[in-house]
Amino acid sequence: MEDKCTMVISGSQLMSYISDFTTICWFMEPEFQEAVRRLHRVVGNAVVDDRYIVVGTGSTQLYQAALYALTSPGGPEPVSVVSASPYYSAYPEETDYLRSGLYKWAGDAYEFDKNGTGPYIEVVNSPNNPDGTLREAVVKNRGDEGKLIHDLAYYWPQYTPIIRPADHDIMTFTFSKSTGHAGSRIGWAVVKDKEVARKMSKFIEMSTLGVSKDSQQRAAKIMGVICDDYKNFKSDELFFEHTRRVMAERWERLRQVVDRNQVFSLPKYPKRYCLFSGELIEPYPGFAWLEAKEEEEEIDSQKVLRGCIKVQGRTGSRFGVAQKYVRVSLLSNEEVFNQFLERLSTINSISNGH
Ligand code: PMP
Repeated sequence: MEDKCTMVISGSQLMSYISDFTTICWFMEPEFQEAVRRLHRVVGNAVVDDRYIVVGTGSTQLYQAALYALTSPGGPEPVSVVSASPYYSAYPEETDYLRSGLYKWAGDAYEFDKNGTGPYIEVVNSPNNPDGTLREAVVKNRGDEGKLIHDLAYYWPQYTPIIRPADHDIMTFTFSKSTGHAGSRIGWAVVKDKEVARKMSKFIEMSTLGVSKDSQQRAAKIMGVICDDYKNFKSDELFFEHTRRVMAERWERLRQVVDRNQVFSLPKYPKRYCLFSGELIEPYPGFAWLEAKEEEEEIDSQKVLRGCIKVQGRTGSRFGVAQKYVRVSLLSNEEVFNQFLERLSTINSISNGH
């Protein structure tokens, strides 16, 4: 993008806590809100008309804000929080970290569907981290007992076909995955219900008294440049076409190595029609979800990668499944990715390492 995204903030700008006291999310910069709505309209991945936007310090903060907003004090038991395994490893950790009396982690949503009772919150992560699948809620509708949080961090065209504009009660997105700016710590929620948006904003007010305005302004700038390019078709290669091409190339090379050494297997993803590109396309998740081919359930694939080729993955057991699975990020820079493939290509047997 060269200098197109550069912005200058002078020493006297953006000093106040407040952005707009007339709105529910009073610490959200109006430019940020506008940019978020515009980006969703350009991509077509979420319904934003007549919806509330809440900004957070990453979607991590918004997850906690949503748990707070969906529960209320005084219940006999904490509300069960579930997600279908393999689930994003941070959900159990974030849910139980403060030992809230309002909610508690209750594990795999499939198990809860079979045996669980009482009020619950299901987190639906689509496309799913770690395995890249597009998902729907698992627990059968139980009237008023169940609430949903849709974590759509990876629902962007470089990772997945955009199959419909998502339209759920609470949807969270993040600057970390849409453009890769994880260091800015910016996320946002698209919320249908005013009271839920108000409670989520209150949580953020109580925990961090707002969200960095510098970061919100930078995010607005970058999103604006991306959208302007789509409006004018100015660039040689537009942002999501470029990033999708990078992901496609990485996946092609990864599959070649994995097929060649026959030690691990990768999920196969069906092609789906993408409304954004107008083509049938394959998903290119941000992670390689590797499964050891050897039958033995005991195999610890994280240990194998670490021991044999000094690559740090995250074990399946952190995602609620067997340790023969391991997740490796594919979103590193080119040099690290090349190193990963080079080393992976040297493994030809799990039992004796090399
Ligand atoms: N949800 C999912 C599924 C993620 O993979 C991540 C980041 N790894 C997050 C949420 C949190 O992202 P952030 O706090 O950077 O917005």
